[in-house]
Amino acid sequence: MNILAIDTSCDETSVAVTNGRRVLSNVVYSQVLLHKKWGGVVPSIAKRAHEERIDFVIQKACKKFTDNIDVIAVTQGPGLAIALEVGIAKAKELSLQFKKPLIAVNHMEGHLYSSFVQNSKGNPKRDFAFPILGFLISGSHTELVLWKDHLDYEVIGETLDDAAGEALDKGARMLGLGYRAPVLETLARDVKNSDEFLFPRPMLRSDNLQFSFSGLKTSLLYLLQKMSDEEKAKKIKELASSYQEAVFDTLAFKLNKALKKTKCATVVAGGGVVVNQRFKSKMNTVVKENNAKIFFPPYKYLTGDNAAMIGVAAYYKALKKNFVKDFQKFERIPRLRL
Ligand code: ZN
Repeated sequence: MNILAIDTSCDETSVAVTNGRRVLSNVVYSQVLLHKKWGGVVPSIAKRAHEERIDFVIQKACKKFTDNIDVIAVTQGPGLAIALEVGIAKAKELSLQFKKPLIAVNHMEGHLYSSFVQNSKGNPKRDFAFPILGFLISGSHTELVLWKDHLDYEVIGETLDDAAGEALDKGARMLGLGYRAPVLETLARDVKNSDEFLFPRPMLRSDNLQFSFSGLKTSLLYLLQKMSDEEKAKKIKELASSYQEAVFDTLAFKLNKALKKTKCATVVAGGGVVVNQRFKSKMNTVVKENNAKIFFPPYKYLTGDNAAMIGVAAYYKALKKNFVKDFQKFERIPRLRL
């Protein structure tokens, strides 16, 4: 069963062809450069760019459409409403035109499956040993998910305000480093004292699995207000490093709590933040202490938004014949939950 999957949830136009867990092709057209000068993703620009590119991206992902596609899959949400609409309209059109069934996928479901996505040769081979603890960390989500079985999820922890990735992005911006967080990691790499500024670790005392990052952001702001430009420039690496340490320590603390609570033996991490090596090493430590194991997405493109993970999640829905029945009622759900 070959699935053509489309994801236009945010600022990447992505189309993939998958077969089971194997990815036959995955094309991502990133809009990062279009949004860069605005300091964030502009929905109307995203919509237009998706519309302009989607046919081209589909064509690149699958050359002979009619021959080899059995099912169409598309992200229904969460994401930017007017960006999601572009993918959904195209998916409906293809489904009707070629008389193929349509499957709706939750974008976060895709991120959960991203650690089980395989290359075209079927590697890596990883087992689904349910229950699995899912840890989703991106620019718009921070969620702990008890993944009980295929398509059976329970969100057991989430953020009360900013997502971890958003907190990192905003920190980078406050430090005058642009709109995306990876720059923090680069700066932090060769710092002697990685935690010189000892920012507060939010929510550690609360006995639940909720996150909150707004207080941390405020403490960075207050600190920067007290520093001269000269001091800031001199200490930019230490500031970047201390800030990301506070974010990651909080994530590690809650992951530890969730592992104790759920007793899951396997963790999967997904979302843009998991590409950060410092994050990975902190999570590895926690998981080891709990005699569990952790899977990260096996290939770097799977950490960002991509249609391959949507196609793989759709496969498990196809096995259960979980198809869209009513095209009239099938619409984007920008705040779709797991
Ligand atoms: Zn995403």
